[in-house]
Amino acid sequence: MSEDLVKLLPGDGPLTRRILKRTREAGLDYRIDTVVVSIGRRRKGTKIVAYHVPKDIYTEEFERREQQKLRKEQQLAIKAEQQEREKREKTVNEQCAKFPKLDRSRIEEFYDQQTEIKSFDEVGYLHKLGTKSYWRKLGFNVIGNPVEVVVRGKQCFNLYRPSQLRDISTRTSLVNLKNRWLKKYGSSELALAEALRFANRLQKVCFYEDFYALKDQWIKSNQHLLVDGKIARVEERMCWSCDGSGMYYKDEECWKCSGTGIYSSRTLYEHRYRIEDRVFSFHSYVQPKLLGEEKGADLPAYGQPFRPDELPLPPQSMLIKLIEELM
Ligand SMILES: [Zn+2]
Repeated sequence: MSEDLVKLLPGDGPLTRRILKRTREAGLDYRIDTVVVSIGRRRKGTKIVAYHVPKDIYTEEFERREQQKLRKEQQLAIKAEQQEREKREKTVNEQCAKFPKLDRSRIEEFYDQQTEIKSFDEVGYLHKLGTKSYWRKLGFNVIGNPVEVVVRGKQCFNLYRPSQLRDISTRTSLVNLKNRWLKKYGSSELALAEALRFANRLQKVCFYEDFYALKDQWIKSNQHLLVDGKIARVEERMCWSCDGSGMYYKDEECWKCSGTGIYSSRTLYEHRYRIEDRVFSFHSYVQPKLLGEEKGADLPAYGQPFRPDELPLPPQSMLIKLIEELM
């Protein structure tokens, strides 16, 4: 009987099995510590909490187990490395096909820097991506490092996201801006409609809560200029009380939604206005006075790129002040 026993805690099945097997094969003794535990409501059972096994066998098997673990980890690391290499190869190949004028080494460099490569049709306020000069024309300065690039032929330009934008500082006063816009558009009605149109688009980039109240106010007081109204979409929120079924159990009507299964519903409309031979289109939850049968444009579909003659724009905050001023 071996006097030199060490404590082995259960938890590593293969290790325990091997040590116990070797101990038995060597004709040596080992001890088991157990505790009584309840299994089920009235039944009791025993649970092994520790083994006391010969120290030399334990040490040998423990080391062997550690080696085994290490080998497995190394194998996994090699496999992960190989997968990463394959992923890199695949992505770089795809990008090389997409941007044939760029050198492969350049594309590899971008991949390693985790810089995404975009094409010019993926850039603009509606894609929430722009170059420094693009954002400047829309009234913003950029901060921080670019994480994406846009490719035109062999040239690459850095890209910035809306979270990196700050209002450009301008020396133009509101009075100056107002006079400039009145001169440019010829009337305050047209200047106001244009300011609303631009500010409306910039909401996608830089959100100003106050803007929507101004927009709805304008929409309500300009219904006489409406030429067309359409339903863009109906937004329905399901009733959580009855999971949208409208019923509790089988025969009890849900009191939260009166059996409709809909908790709330609101309709987004497309309004079209004519102002001095120009047509303006706005979306709002305000119901238009005229409502046609035809379905209006839904959110993902609208948002035109800015035309060069529409730029540069003043900062969004100033556009909103201009709208207040003109209203
Ligand atoms: Zn309900």
